[in-house]
Amino acid sequence: MTAPPARIFPPGRAGPNPRRQAPVPVLHPNDFRPGPSAAGLRLGRRGFLQLVGLAAAVGPILAGRAHAQAAGAAAPRMMDDGSLALTTGFVFPDAPPDALAAAFDSADPNLPLAVPCTVPVLRLGDRTILFDAGSGPMFMDSAGRLAASLEAAGISPADVTDVVFTHFHPDHLWGVTDDFDELTFPEAQYHMAQAEFDFWMAEDAVSNVDAGMETFVAGARSRLPRLAERGRFFKDGDEPLPGIEVAATPGHSPGHCSFLLHLGGDPLLITGDVFSHPLTIAHPQWRWGTDQDHDAAAAQRHRMIDRAISEKLRLAVFHMPAPGLGRIERGAEGARWVVEP
Ligand SMILES: [Zn+2]
Repeated sequence: MTAPPARIFPPGRAGPNPRRQAPVPVLHPNDFRPGPSAAGLRLGRRGFLQLVGLAAAVGPILAGRAHAQAAGAAAPRMMDDGSLALTTGFVFPDAPPDALAAAFDSADPNLPLAVPCTVPVLRLGDRTILFDAGSGPMFMDSAGRLAASLEAAGISPADVTDVVFTHFHPDHLWGVTDDFDELTFPEAQYHMAQAEFDFWMAEDAVSNVDAGMETFVAGARSRLPRLAERGRFFKDGDEPLPGIEVAATPGHSPGHCSFLLHLGGDPLLITGDVFSHPLTIAHPQWRWGTDQDHDAAAAQRHRMIDRAISEKLRLAVFHMPAPGLGRIERGAEGARWVVEP
């Protein structure tokens, strides 16, 4: 297994950092290039009518970076958290060069790739539930916009009652703490998989990750004990909150979980990082650069593609181009990501 280059991730900042670093040049998420196999379809009249129905049911459609969704009685809104500044060679270390060239017009593995980050937020009764917490201010200057996106949507940090985690990589976890290393969501309860917590808190955790990902361990270990004080652990099949079912999907990380939402309307699957790019659906066997267990992650992608197609599931995928909602269809050339507007 090829180790990712150490330079791709910043060294991490141990303490408060009130002043952000000078911005580095990165692609805007709108520049994100999903490749020819990821061409999206648009919702038709039915989708539009669902959207209108949702607006009537839950109030005004949010402005700014929040995207109202077409669905039944309740559905998450997708909040922009910026993007990760990576390279095509880092995220697809084993992809055939000619396939990369076809997808990105260049086989150069150093080609910059902005990987969007989109956090689902769900208002359910008197709860405001986040699925993951974004990158926060300490990971990459191109990410960490969740707080601003929530504010634009009229949601204050103190409104957040629950944070439900797919896994503990920095772009999903580090946003639980702010510039001053204090909890971003002071009233929240934290829901997490015991297996994921145990992996990152193990004495030898740093020896279990690839070179270049040591900061992932330090960042998790500096945050997780505080979350555990206000935490509840779940396992496969549990329902940590009403209508939210846990599906253990290990591979990308050892305790990675996805969540099936049964909230009226079509069931919706929040996939975390089982998929991280439209090409991970078109080519599920390609290793993704931060997959912990390549074979398990690839098998998980195959399983979830089959399930999403057979059950006609709507998906919310953290790293897909905004708003990160869509479905999977199988055509003559294999499975593909079909975007919802
Ligand atoms: Zn991620």
